[in-house]
Amino acid sequence: MNILVTGGAGYIGSHVVKELLDTKHQVITYDNLQKGHKEAILGGIFVKGDLADKALLDQTFKKYDIDAVIHLAADSLVGESMEKPAKYYQNNVINGLNLLDTMIANDVKKIVFSSTAAVYGDVKEIPITEDLSKKPTSVYGKSKLFFEEIMQDYDQAYGLKYISLRYFNASGADESGKIGEDHNPESHLIPIVLQKALGLREKLAIFGTDYPTRDGSCVRDYIHVTDLAQAHILSVNALAEGKASTIYNLGNGDGYSVKEVIATASEVVGTNIEAVIGNRRPGDPATLIASSNRIKRELGWNPQYGDLKTIIETAWKWHKNHPNGFKK
Ligand code: UDP
Repeated sequence: MNILVTGGAGYIGSHVVKELLDTKHQVITYDNLQKGHKEAILGGIFVKGDLADKALLDQTFKKYDIDAVIHLAADSLVGESMEKPAKYYQNNVINGLNLLDTMIANDVKKIVFSSTAAVYGDVKEIPITEDLSKKPTSVYGKSKLFFEEIMQDYDQAYGLKYISLRYFNASGADESGKIGEDHNPESHLIPIVLQKALGLREKLAIFGTDYPTRDGSCVRDYIHVTDLAQAHILSVNALAEGKASTIYNLGNGDGYSVKEVIATASEVVGTNIEAVIGNRRPGDPATLIASSNRIKRELGWNPQYGDLKTIIETAWKWHKNHPNGFKK
């Protein structure tokens, strides 16, 4: 198949592209490079473009005879989404509609969508299964949930088949050490901890130690980005084989607290990484742990990097060798 990967120059997208390059599929990355990095695309065809550009989208579908789409292009910062809802609804919903409409116009009816655990909000039931109630606490989470619902309507009306993948905490880096996480500004825990270890930032704060968890800090389900990437390949292949639309969680099923992440990272880098206790970050649920049984059962997804130490080791390999990310 000729697969269009939107957002393929981003952190998760570049790992999806890399895994796709090892398959029989052709990869066409479509990215506006606002957040993504050209250097992160390790092969295939690249089109610099924005989802707002309907003409270029249509041209790209025709030129490369696209068969299926993996759609990751989006804004993804919870905090920013609360301050700039218009940006999130425009980019994640309205520009996403351009993509869906271009798909339908070109008779392309298979899409794997990058969704998020943020659609659930503050749930009490742990581990989280796909059918639990969805009450997103952020505009970001809402924008992703809206898009899932739009795809459902497009399935009913036009026969669009989608698999929505709700990621928990994407982390780690490709084993080659060639690609990894490079956000500016960085807001994610593991890269921040490793940047602190490298002396690239003065302060590492634990955002709250008064949560109802085993050590008071928030518990998250860290899932290796290569395992996430593999789930996209299984999903696009399943759609090609006629799978009905569905939604899957992607996590390890294990939760680690912020303090445990810092302790494990200290072990990996071989020095004690110092942290101070800070205030809670607004909107953070205490615990998020996924049940990913559905995708394991239905698609045979089999994550290879379940262990937190292994995840941090792969991230460390990237950060140590690329302290400034993709910048030379
Ligand atoms: N966190 C923290 N200090 C930081 C960054 C993050 O204590 O400098 C915490 C954050 O509050 C959350 C966890 O680490 O409980 C994971 O945060 P991240 O932003 O990586 O992912 P999220 O769970 O928000 O998707």
